[in-house]
Amino acid sequence: MPLYRAPRGTQDILPEDRPYWRHVTERAHAVAALYGYEFIDTPIFEETSLFVRGVGEGTDIVDKEMYSFQDKGGDDLTLRPEFTAGVMRAYLEHGMRTRPQPVKLYSFGPIFRREKPQAGRYRQFWQFNVEAIGEMDPALDVEVMSVAWQLYEDLGFGGLSFQINSTGDPRCRPRYIEALVAYYRQHLDVLGDDDRRRLERNPLRLLDSKVPAAQPVIAAAPKITDYLCDDCAQHFARVRRYLDELDRPYAVNHRLVRGLDYYTKTVFEVYAEGIGAQNAVCGGGRYDGLIEALGGPPTPGIGFATGIERIILTMKERGIAVPGQPRPTAFVAPLGEDGKTVALKLVTDLRAAGLPALLAFGDRSLKAQLRAADRAGATYAIILGEDELAQGQAALRHMAQGTQQNVLLQDVVTFLKNDSREQ
Ligand code: AMP
Repeated sequence: MPLYRAPRGTQDILPEDRPYWRHVTERAHAVAALYGYEFIDTPIFEETSLFVRGVGEGTDIVDKEMYSFQDKGGDDLTLRPEFTAGVMRAYLEHGMRTRPQPVKLYSFGPIFRREKPQAGRYRQFWQFNVEAIGEMDPALDVEVMSVAWQLYEDLGFGGLSFQINSTGDPRCRPRYIEALVAYYRQHLDVLGDDDRRRLERNPLRLLDSKVPAAQPVIAAAPKITDYLCDDCAQHFARVRRYLDELDRPYAVNHRLVRGLDYYTKTVFEVYAEGIGAQNAVCGGGRYDGLIEALGGPPTPGIGFATGIERIILTMKERGIAVPGQPRPTAFVAPLGEDGKTVALKLVTDLRAAGLPALLAFGDRSLKAQLRAADRAGATYAIILGEDELAQGQAALRHMAQGTQQNVLLQDVVTFLKNDSREQ
């Protein structure tokens, strides 16, 4: 048993997984650029109170899952359990209201939540997070939804669809919550302890309940779309019309709600064919009250986040291939001490010319070195034996073809440069 292991719920991202990470990251950056979103990097920790306000008391994240600590100076800090609050803090702090609106930002990085670890659920995981701030237009909702859609499509996920809903706003939602609570009071007998607590603290979350006995009650519960004010109803109608026009399949899911006041209007999730019906690949929505809750002026916004580990797990499950790791051009294999000195110089020249090159260490036989060159996936092994060196040459062995030719030492870099250009 090793003395130490990665902390529970965390994992090392090993070199063999790098091609997936690189591919997903590159696609995410490319899609963001295509839609005109700019990269923003915020600190990994923020003041604890930012998340308490920005994520919201009564949420699992704030109540149970934050990694909060006091630093040695006595400041109360928390490792970010999501991106949005920090990005909104940055929007306010840097006066981004004076920039052309909407301000369209995306981020990429680790997130920390003390959840119960299981397959696809970690305590440190990465998110690709997209926010569009300062604009109410429902066309922006559809744009943000399309960023998520396009990422999954580009990554090779098939059968995509949206589930959408409107959560209303502080004008119309209270009337809906009243109706929901009144309805649930007639069904107390089927509610478990958790649901009873939700009824008191955060009734919208009753609609999330996974308890089998509660499902028929949820199905017959009042629907928020019957309670929307004109403004919210029109907004929702326009989102659906735009989705129709873009031919993006969607279903209205009345259970999709967010339990906090600053989440408003559109909520959405993306589903992909073959991924368990319970698991959205990503979720997002409007938060027109959030910036105000953080002490700023009333400013609308909409965004989504998606987890990178879950994307990669799903790609592997489905056998979606990604481009492999770039391979070294050359593996320099010297024989004897004289060869080692020449090899060190040659490998330095190759790298200076921008050609990925590896040097064989230790004092191994030619056979062992060729095996190592093969394992490294090098295009050429460059053999520096006594005979070659005596003639100021190197033997270049093309690993895949098994062919070999001698090249003057001073010509090796040019030869390989031309060769890699032809590939
Ligand atoms: P949320 O911020 O909770 O809406 O989550 C957004 C996305 O982050 C989810 O759709 C998942 O892909 C991912 N995610 C959330 N929690 C975890 C976790 N504990 N481990 C891995 N991925 C997660």
